[in-house]
Amino acid sequence: MKQKKSISYVLPVYNEQEGLAEFYNALTKATDTISENYNFEYVFINDGSKDNSFSILQSLFEKDSRVKVINFSKNFGHQMAITAGIDMAEGDAVIIMDTDLQDPPEASLKLVEKWQEGFEVIYAQREQRRDGAIKKLTAYMFYRILDILSEVKIPKDTGDFRLLDRKVVLEMRRFRETNRFMRGLTSYVGFKQTAVLFNRDKRFAGETHYPFRKMFKLAFDGITSFSTVPLKLITQFGFYVSFVSFLGIIYALVVRIFYPEMTVQGTTFAIISVLFMGGVQMVMLGILGEYVGRIYQEVQNRPLYIVSSVLSKK
Ligand code: UDP
Ligand code: MG
Repeated sequence: MKQKKSISYVLPVYNEQEGLAEFYNALTKATDTISENYNFEYVFINDGSKDNSFSILQSLFEKDSRVKVINFSKNFGHQMAITAGIDMAEGDAVIIMDTDLQDPPEASLKLVEKWQEGFEVIYAQREQRRDGAIKKLTAYMFYRILDILSEVKIPKDTGDFRLLDRKVVLEMRRFRETNRFMRGLTSYVGFKQTAVLFNRDKRFAGETHYPFRKMFKLAFDGITSFSTVPLKLITQFGFYVSFVSFLGIIYALVVRIFYPEMTVQGTTFAIISVLFMGGVQMVMLGILGEYVGRIYQEVQNRPLYIVSSVLSKK
């Protein structure tokens, strides 16, 4: 008899108590339909939830031997939770999925079909998203800006919902950068990649854990880890500003020499140029600072996450 292949689900959890049991039911209902052909493992990562999520996970673990729980010592963030899951998942394929029912569990079966066709990275691409207008707009802009700036092609409108073949998983484990953008990394590693379209649902319960601040950090991680374009823009912009300043110098001298009675007006001009230059320099320093800060964090080489306990039947 042929050995069944195994599929691991990597499931980050942060304060999902309202929807978690529902999610587990929907997921197992979906996977049950193909359980003659595959073995499943559900790796939940409790990313320092402050609500009852962990005790819900504990009870799932007690009743279902396929459930594994990695319990973080505190909140390390979505990307780190996924990293831990990828590090510990044992399946021949790994499916990364949100646990808020925004990624419909049935859609993951479509990823499995593509995997059987021989694809090694299959990302679920959103055809539609049912989020608030601001979330939609910022997400839309983020993927477009990333596309312009990034030096690797990162598919648009894909979250972290995707399937990775074991081969890819083993490669992913070798990336140990601190400021990580998993979506970018999975594109970067290559292999046979394809997309499956799906509709993203509204959150089943609770609020997004990506408030504007975290979105911004993720966007910046995405851009800085795959692009040095902002640094190049600084240089380019510096040249333009220098050129304009040069024209300004000529203008100031001409006025001073040929129209000395007009020089009083020069104060406005001086204030504007000083303020403008000051602003431009601050922005440029800020961008430099972002890169330097990231270099500093990478050099520290800290562990990416800290696990306080693991629940596993094996
Ligand atoms: N999440 C996490 N740690 C965090 C924030 C989020 O593990 O610090 C999980 C969360 O439980 C969910 C997934 O990551 O399963 C995506 O988060 P969320 O739904 O808040 O993001 P959105 O779908 O709004 O982009
Ligand atoms: Mg969500």
